Formats: sequence, C-alpha cells, structure tokens
Amino acid sequence: MQNTVNFLACPYCISPLQSDMRCNSCNTTFPVKNSQPDLRIQRPVTVDVKYNYTPEFGSFPWEKASLNWPVMNDLTKKAGWDNVEANMLISVPKAEGHKLSLDIGCGHNRQRFQEGLRMLGYSTFGIDIDGNAPDALADAHFLPFADNTFDLIMSSAVFEHLKNPFLAMKELHRVAKPGAKIVLCIAYNEPFHISYFHHSPLAVHELMVSMGITPHQFILSWEWNSFNSNLHMGFAGSRMPAFMQKIFEKSVKTYALFPARIKGLLKGDRKKVDAAKFSFARSHSGVVSVIATKD
Ligand SMILES: [Zn+2]
Repeated sequence: MQNTVNFLACPYCISPLQSDMRCNSCNTTFPVKNSQPDLRIQRPVTVDVKYNYTPEFGSFPWEKASLNWPVMNDLTKKAGWDNVEANMLISVPKAEGHKLSLDIGCGHNRQRFQEGLRMLGYSTFGIDIDGNAPDALADAHFLPFADNTFDLIMSSAVFEHLKNPFLAMKELHRVAKPGAKIVLCIAYNEPFHISYFHHSPLAVHELMVSMGITPHQFILSWEWNSFNSNLHMGFAGSRMPAFMQKIFEKSVKTYALFPARIKGLLKGDRKKVDAAKFSFARSHSGVVSVIATKD
C-alpha cells in the first residue's frame, strides 16, 4: 500500500503522522521495523466512550437474520481461504473507482482478505496486533487513521478478543467513510480461545446500533455450531479422533432436524427443515456475522 502517510494518524491524538512516524501534536514517535510502522498504544490511556443507552431488552430484528450470505460478486473460493473468509469476500461488491479497505485483525503471517479484495478492485490496508503480514501494527481500540478514511471495513474473529468492544466499534465508526460497508464475523458459541467477550446476535446488534452503525443483515451458521466448534477448538478438539468427531457432528444435526423431518413426512417439507436449521443456529451458531453500513 503506497501513500499510507496520507491517512495514518497518531493513535493517541488522531493528528496526522509525519513520514518518519512522528506526531507533531503530542510528540510521540512510533518505531518502524522492516518498513512496517508499529502504531500500537505503548502506555495506559484513559478514554471516554459515549454510549447511547436505550431502556429495552431482548429486541432483535430477526427478519434480518438468515443462514445464507448474499452473493455480491463472481469470486470463487481459492485454496487457502476458509469458509467464513470466502463467504465474507463474496458479500462485498466490486469496487467502483478508487476504494480503500481496512482489515482489522488481518492475520499475523498472511492478510486473509487481501487477495480477494484486490481481485474486487480495492486498495487494501491490514492491521493486526502482531506479525509481519500487516501493513502496520495497531490496536483495534485505538485505530491509527484519520476520520472518514475507509470505504470498506472487514474484520473476522477479532471482536471477541477485544477488551472493550464498544470502544473498538466507536473507532471503527470513526475511520469509516459515511456510506462505508462493514462486514464482521464475531465468536458466539465457540469455546474460550484467549477471548474476552463472545457476542450473541443481540450483542452484535447493540454494539453496532449504539455506536451509530446500521446492520442490514445477520448471518448465523448451521454448519459451524456450538457442538462443532467445541469439537474443533479447545479441550475436545485436540482429543477426539476425527472419525468420532464426524459421527458426533452428524448425530447432532440429525437430532436437531428430526422433529421437522417427521412433521414434513421425513423430507417432504423443505420449509420446516429450513426453519428448524435457522432455529438451531439462532441459539447454537458458532459465530455471528453481520453486514452493515455507516450512514
Ligand atoms: Zn499524537
């Protein structure tokens, strides 16, 4: 990514950074290693997060939730993209004109969305807390960018690792351009994996709406569910043999769909089976994904 100096900003005071990664306003100098600026926060910071509280509980626009991702382009899944990466990429429209994307938590050794986003015509910028693949090292709670910089923001499997998701969402909102598209995937029913807050659909909705972002579509997973994620991550994942995992996964799915299949005379009623899958995913999806815009 060239000309990054144009939009890089001091994560403490959001003043533009000089080409030597120095902030003239607060006099912080950030190190650069192998041409990768290290713009991570280096000292404790006290920050106010303005939060719009509404006194209602449990309300969620279930009509915006589905099991299927919208197909917005003709990308096909490449070797090396996992399912959620491929689905997130397929939900992004092709860039018209010069469009800049940000990947928050892009990956330490490989920027997971870079290849796909470039194929869609985006200029990409990726940050992570560590590693040599990111264009810059940065903390999602203190994004080192000017306001209204990005046309598209992607983030997969990051928000559950944040200490204060509201602060990070406020920052995401700040660096997104008005009208920017936002595609996120956040852990819901996954085992602990050095993660702070796992998010239900209600939590993702609250997080976005309270920070001024409008969610348009939520995607829940029938395949990557609480049972499946527990088999592949954490304690069980490392211990149960693969053939046992397959039997267990299949049994859970068969059991979950059994009443709907009986009602639909074993397989006649597709709608009842789809409704049962959705109902299962509502409470057991491993992740919650969302497509949103900053209005
Ligand atoms: Zn500064």
